[in-house]
Amino acid sequence: MKKVSMLDLKLEYEYMKEDIDSSIEKCLEHQRWILGPEVEQLERAIAKYLGVSHCIGVASGTDALAISLRAMAIKLKEQEYFDTTDEIITTPFTFTATGDAILRSGARPVFVDIEPETFNIDTSKIRQYLANCGHDKVVGIVPVHLYGQSCDMDQIMKIAKEYNLFVVEDVAQAFGGKWRQKKIGTIGDAGAFSFFPSKNLGGFGDGGMIATEDDKIADIARMLLRHGGMDKYNVTHIGYNSRLDTIQAATLLAKLKYVDELNNKRRAIAQSYTERLSEIPGLACPAVLPDAHHVYNQYTVRITDNKRDSVRKSLGEKGIGTAVYYPLPLHKMKVFENRVILADKLEQAEKASREVISLPIEPLLGEKEQSLVCESLKECIKDVQR
Ligand SMILES: *Cc1c(COP(=O)(O)O)cnc(C)c1O
Repeated sequence: MKKVSMLDLKLEYEYMKEDIDSSIEKCLEHQRWILGPEVEQLERAIAKYLGVSHCIGVASGTDALAISLRAMAIKLKEQEYFDTTDEIITTPFTFTATGDAILRSGARPVFVDIEPETFNIDTSKIRQYLANCGHDKVVGIVPVHLYGQSCDMDQIMKIAKEYNLFVVEDVAQAFGGKWRQKKIGTIGDAGAFSFFPSKNLGGFGDGGMIATEDDKIADIARMLLRHGGMDKYNVTHIGYNSRLDTIQAATLLAKLKYVDELNNKRRAIAQSYTERLSEIPGLACPAVLPDAHHVYNQYTVRITDNKRDSVRKSLGEKGIGTAVYYPLPLHKMKVFENRVILADKLEQAEKASREVISLPIEPLLGEKEQSLVCESLKECIKDVQR
């Protein structure tokens, strides 16, 4: 029935099987499962890849965000958590973990609407909030590089400098992405990466990483992830057990060698999709900023006129897998009720949640499957417009 699934992780495994198997076999030999040598090797390799001073492995992308934000509170305020009156600006059109990490750092998320073209946070609306709403409570910004495309980091860093705000980048969907020539995740005070299996660099389970130039943030993050101190029998901070598994690090070390190649394949598929789909009425292909090197964790189009769900259903009947990221903006979720500030009406985020659909963009997807995705989508849109 399924002709093209949304994600086929087996393809990637088979493509690099020998590297992965031999990397995991080394772990089976040494049996150092907790903070084994591969964790430090991966941290060094990714630091080199990103061109950043420190990389710190953690148990998930969610923890990478939460620990980065906790480290900011400890560094800036010399207290374990932010105060609930401290505000952190972010987008409501993201995975729950972004907003959740802000709540867990003690601060209050401020949701600012997105740009309709890129789905990323609208920097002019960040400015509007800071100008209109008394910026004295705002401590930081968490930009999310959604679907693999960088936010406008020139504007975000300019605003941060003007208002003395920290920036923690959510790079969960954008490993290898760039803004101008700089790798994203290394532009703000810290970057939080995820190695969830479906991400551009994905492990065989959960994993995450914090990147930073700041020695102090790095030291605090290293303590927080191991129960709050470098000596776990005598700790300083309220910590977590959030170590990156040795076996995940070993897998990721093997996969890291392929990440640029696979990101380029994603970019080529995206280009071919856009060429084939750009002229279809009722459908909008992703827009890319000239300064952004998009790495397409998702290829997400917009289907207008309230036709998204029926198009998605008929694509499913033709055996084409799709996904909706995200059907509900964060401010509509119970967990954020009464715990957040809505900077504006968030109309673009709500509209996007009704119109977006992500197509299969597995980097090893064959040409036949790519055509099938495009042809089926064209047919389905025609059908629902009848
Ligand atoms: C995947 C994701 C996360 C969380 O990463 P996990 O490793 O699943 O905890 C955070 N933010 C965004 C935007 C994500 O896509």
